[in-house]
Amino acid sequence: MVITDIDTYILRLPLGSERFFSSQCAFPERNSLLVRIKTDEGITGWGEGGQYGPPEPVESCIKHVLSDIIRGRDPMSPAVLWEEMYSKVRDFGQKGSYIEAISAIDIALWDIFGKAVNLPVSKLLGGSFRDSIPAYATGCYYRGEDHLDYQISLDALKKEAKSYADSGFKMLKIKIGLLEIEQDMERVAAIRESVGQDVKLFVDCNHAYNSFTAVKAINTLEKFGVTFVEEPVLPEDLDGYRHVRSKVNIAVAGGECEYTRYGFKALITTGCIDIVQPDICVCGGISEWLKILSLAQAFGIFSIPHVWGSGVALAAALQVISTIPDSPHTANSVAMQNEPVVEYDKTHNPLRDDLLKEKFILDNGRVIVPDGTGLGIDIDMDVLNKYSSG
Ligand code: MG
Repeated sequence: MVITDIDTYILRLPLGSERFFSSQCAFPERNSLLVRIKTDEGITGWGEGGQYGPPEPVESCIKHVLSDIIRGRDPMSPAVLWEEMYSKVRDFGQKGSYIEAISAIDIALWDIFGKAVNLPVSKLLGGSFRDSIPAYATGCYYRGEDHLDYQISLDALKKEAKSYADSGFKMLKIKIGLLEIEQDMERVAAIRESVGQDVKLFVDCNHAYNSFTAVKAINTLEKFGVTFVEEPVLPEDLDGYRHVRSKVNIAVAGGECEYTRYGFKALITTGCIDIVQPDICVCGGISEWLKILSLAQAFGIFSIPHVWGSGVALAAALQVISTIPDSPHTANSVAMQNEPVVEYDKTHNPLRDDLLKEKFILDNGRVIVPDGTGLGIDIDMDVLNKYSSG
């Protein structure tokens, strides 16, 4: 079998009144870049990348550079093609768009591999430890018409948080970092009051703080029973990560903006974090994620991949997370204590909810891992064409 075609699709969906803010920016739209790889045997695979920022640069990397490397090659050698692609772009693309492009291609190759041998990707990776994964809802963003009107009323915030708990989620990740620390703590307090003590609460700063203000914010969070705090400082500020981690009693998480085993090396091995969060569609795909996971395991770092994008990204995450052993092993699996979890973004996103013919099933706070071949998904081409600009 050889690769014949590499097609890209830029997906774009204006959010209108559903727009929201993190500490860094407004999200007026959802977008992503899907890649479809075709073979001479009629098997096709899907991958995703470029969902953090504008997808056009990622598409350009695929169209103008990487496609020529893999066309005509064996799709069932994803690790070999990964090394060849990375070796060709290393001098100018160790992070960012090139690695997102490689991620999208790599995921599609694993999808083809699974379809070719009639097995889900999880089997190719060594098998699943679980057929459903505890899911945490991501929500409670800042909302408003513009940057001067960002403060959702606390009542609306409570209502949103409670809706996640009522729909079965036992874990919730919320945003801080846009407001003064005292104002953000009012939001956290309102959410904790709304969901009660039985829902695990995670807090994402999106690198809003320096090492001093991060310590102040995190130490204030302690009284709200927060399990982990995500990206307290800039992703490049490893000294800041180590300082923060030495001064707080809440687990520190990070890694969604890091790339490849080489990028994760210092983050994992020098005491920066308790929890590593590589994004499959960003860090280098499934092939590279395997290497990052091994590094994390060897250094005793808990691994819970970051998930942000369409249904393809979520499906890829479900496949790989199902293969992570409980860390550490005990005779009992407890979510976030030793059992890995999956991020389930709950913001308005038809690219996640409508793009696949099969819907994700949430059962008692756990997402069922699709058991079809490859990623276990079928793309609804009508929905894809509806949101595709290319
Ligand atoms: Mg985050």
